[in-house]
Amino acid sequence: MIELLSLDELEHDDVADLVWGTDWARCAKRLFSTVSAGLGEPVALSSQSVREVLTCSGWWESRREFDQYDLPADGVKVQVVRAIVRRWLAANLDGGQQVRPLLFAGQVLRRFSDSNSVFGRWVRLLSSTELAEFRSEVAVLLARLDVDWQQRNRSLSVVPGSLLSRARFGSLALTSSVVDATIGAASLSGSGFVAGSTLLSFASSPSLSSQLDELGVAAVLHGLRTGCPPARIVMWDLVSGSGVAQTVDNDFVSLWCQQICEATRRISEIQSFFEPRLHGGPHCQKCPNFEYCPNADRDEYAW
Ligand code: SF4
Repeated sequence: MIELLSLDELEHDDVADLVWGTDWARCAKRLFSTVSAGLGEPVALSSQSVREVLTCSGWWESRREFDQYDLPADGVKVQVVRAIVRRWLAANLDGGQQVRPLLFAGQVLRRFSDSNSVFGRWVRLLSSTELAEFRSEVAVLLARLDVDWQQRNRSLSVVPGSLLSRARFGSLALTSSVVDATIGAASLSGSGFVAGSTLLSFASSPSLSSQLDELGVAAVLHGLRTGCPPARIVMWDLVSGSGVAQTVDNDFVSLWCQQICEATRRISEIQSFFEPRLHGGPHCQKCPNFEYCPNADRDEYAW
């Protein structure tokens, strides 16, 4: 079930409790360990790469080669914003004296700039005017978040980021970097775990229900860490102050487990020198191999 909600309503979940067997995580781990046995070389799968493999194996393959050489600058900018927001959540967990958002954004950006990380290199490429503009932009988002989420920390626990962002099963690694906060926790009942967590992901563009799929692998990872999947996933647009939420049910989790397994099988085919399965479509326009691929859908470029 997909719904619209405010961040403060995260605490008022009236969705019926979903109980997961205490062996759910053990069964899921066994499943991924079994399917990873077909892989020759190590592979990391996120929600995005699972979608790419299942849409067109060639898209996944060319994207992987492309990513090794270049990280799109707009992608780094989004990651820098999220990193600052997570630090903001962590710094204000106890609800004590707050550093002002503009000052806080400046402090974090300075720390990034002094580091040799991808973030540091990206920040150092900005001119002083661009850096000042970006700092103000982020400060507005932080202030907006505080207004939109006033109930934060009042009753449920809030942990910045995810409880598990990577899990390894032989040559298969499941990864997710899209969770910005984990709210609440599961509880134990006589028959199993009662799902109780919400995974929250921040976006800086209007949140669409289709974006909730970005949290598929994150929901599985959360379950592997805590014993059961979260109760709900939320995408929140920091700019517009609106979001979408979805209840995590058995169908959602089973579908993601199946997709991870199928993606792993298709990658093991490619590693065994089978030709990638090419399926053209609108997604071709996002594929690094668009220019050279014989199966690319070029209808949009018919002029
Ligand atoms: S251009 Fe289209 S068909 Fe070709 S590899 Fe990329 S996504 Fe697949």
